[in-house]
Amino acid sequence: MPAEMRAIHLSGKTVELRSDHPVPRPKVGPESEVLVKVIRAGVCETDLQLIQGYMGFEGVLGHEFVGIAQSGPLRGERVVGEINCSCFQCGTCRSGLPTHCPNRTVLGILGHDGAFADFISVPQKNLHRVPEALSTDVAVFVEPVAAAYQILRQQLVEKHHRAAVLGDGRLGNLCAQVLADFGCEVLVVGKHENKLQILRDLGIETGLLNEVTPARKFDVVVDCTGSASGLLTALQFVKPWGTIILKTTVSGEQTMAFAPIVIDEVRVIGSRCGPFSDAIAGLEAGRIQVEPLISGRFPLDKGVEAIHHTAQNPVLKILIDIDHS
Ligand SMILES: [Zn+2]
Ligand SMILES: [Zn+2]
Repeated sequence: MPAEMRAIHLSGKTVELRSDHPVPRPKVGPESEVLVKVIRAGVCETDLQLIQGYMGFEGVLGHEFVGIAQSGPLRGERVVGEINCSCFQCGTCRSGLPTHCPNRTVLGILGHDGAFADFISVPQKNLHRVPEALSTDVAVFVEPVAAAYQILRQQLVEKHHRAAVLGDGRLGNLCAQVLADFGCEVLVVGKHENKLQILRDLGIETGLLNEVTPARKFDVVVDCTGSASGLLTALQFVKPWGTIILKTTVSGEQTMAFAPIVIDEVRVIGSRCGPFSDAIAGLEAGRIQVEPLISGRFPLDKGVEAIHHTAQNPVLKILIDIDHS
């Protein structure tokens, strides 16, 4: 095992490739970790937010990845990893909410180095084997697809619901697919004709934000805009007693009038990480299509460019190729 590796490191607002980053040392004991040799990773909106200062993270970026486990029961297998590293001992963990553990670290987001590197250390409990039928490209999407499935797990929607998804980016696309597959009548509202076309090709109704009349007729509105104004827009689409689901985090503070929420008796709820098993099953069954979202790939040595490319271009998912063997 080498002592040093390549890694895309964030410090302050500086993102750089380091070729002499120490290979992480997996923890031993009750929270035992496994070293994973990363094959491929995906750039996410959260990575862009982190660079803007969200969470004040310093370390190796990247939390959507596929790799090969180097030890433990899954040794030699392709794996994906849940990103919340919880203590499983505190009251929150024992009450069944480990993703809310106050002692948690989060891969590539909070206090734990991420996957834009040759190796990442992941708690054994967090690993899931990638089924043979799933290509590595598709498996990179397990983490964001799981986040989309969290909406179903939170039991916020019913099959007969009309749902509006605001935002035609990566997460909006996946949330729309999950809701449409569940049985909802889905409209995606976005700003980018090319991204909306991908959804129409999947049989999902779309509209351009400046052309759609935001009648208050939707049972559920999912905000995937990644924008501070997303909640305000959602209030124009949701019907009285409807539900607004906030899926994206925005760094900084937002101000808005809360009166419409009270007047229309709207439920506003946050939604974050979700069940990997549901995501793997949905991808394996072909119910969720992710290949149309891949819009480019960069080698790890050009990982910084991959991140900048994602930030500056109207692209969907950029992959980072790490191990070519
Ligand atoms: Zn992400
Ligand atoms: Zn805990």
